[in-house]
Amino acid sequence: MPKTIGIIGGMSPESTIEYYQYIVRTYTQRFGDHAYPEIIIYSVSFEQYIEWPAQGRWDLIAEGLSTAAKRLESAGTDFIIIATNTMHIVFDQVQASVNVPMINLLEVVGDAILKKGLNTVGLLGTRYTMEAEDLYPKALSKKGITVVIPDESGRDFVNRVIYDELIKGEIREESHRGFLKVILEMAERGAQGVILGCTEIPLLVKAEDTPLVLFDTTLLHAEAALGFALD
Ligand code: GLU
Repeated sequence: MPKTIGIIGGMSPESTIEYYQYIVRTYTQRFGDHAYPEIIIYSVSFEQYIEWPAQGRWDLIAEGLSTAAKRLESAGTDFIIIATNTMHIVFDQVQASVNVPMINLLEVVGDAILKKGLNTVGLLGTRYTMEAEDLYPKALSKKGITVVIPDESGRDFVNRVIYDELIKGEIREESHRGFLKVILEMAERGAQGVILGCTEIPLLVKAEDTPLVLFDTTLLHAEAALGFALD
């Protein structure tokens, strides 16, 4: 029996859907039947998880996501993933609140970068993700990987597009062009690949858009969950 996957989602629903679809479709394509793992999705009400980071209330976020994790645990999930990069800022607190294991997205992404043999990568994500020293830079420096982030105006632009467009499922051509420009600027500053470090960005930027290797954090995390469920 595959393990039951718990997903803390709804941040935003646009990317939670991608996790769900990736896991069930990939299983079916790979094995030819429909015996994919059971999945329990805990979709939070997103509004407070937009307001709390803006207020610096990571304590409330840790508390809210720990409650979600405990509910998933008591509902019978064998392990849990948090389907957003940003909320990995409180990963350790959430993991400490449950007995079941959780798969850390940053570890999965770091391993994928090493597998490609890269040592300097650009990072796109929310302002919190791009600016948190103890998120990607800390996790990746342990693996010998350096992180390049966009300049101030690039960060403003990327953050705005995520919260004003992508979490609502709006895909705009001018934003697509803007993201490619930011990617190019990071490549000029040494990035050999780019982490799409927000689970909605893969809706806007695709592998065929740039010669740089893209690390699609949504698919990498969903693949890790599928692999662990079947292991
Ligand atoms: N899904 C996004 C991420 O991966 C941003 C939404 C959020 O969690 O604030 O970081």
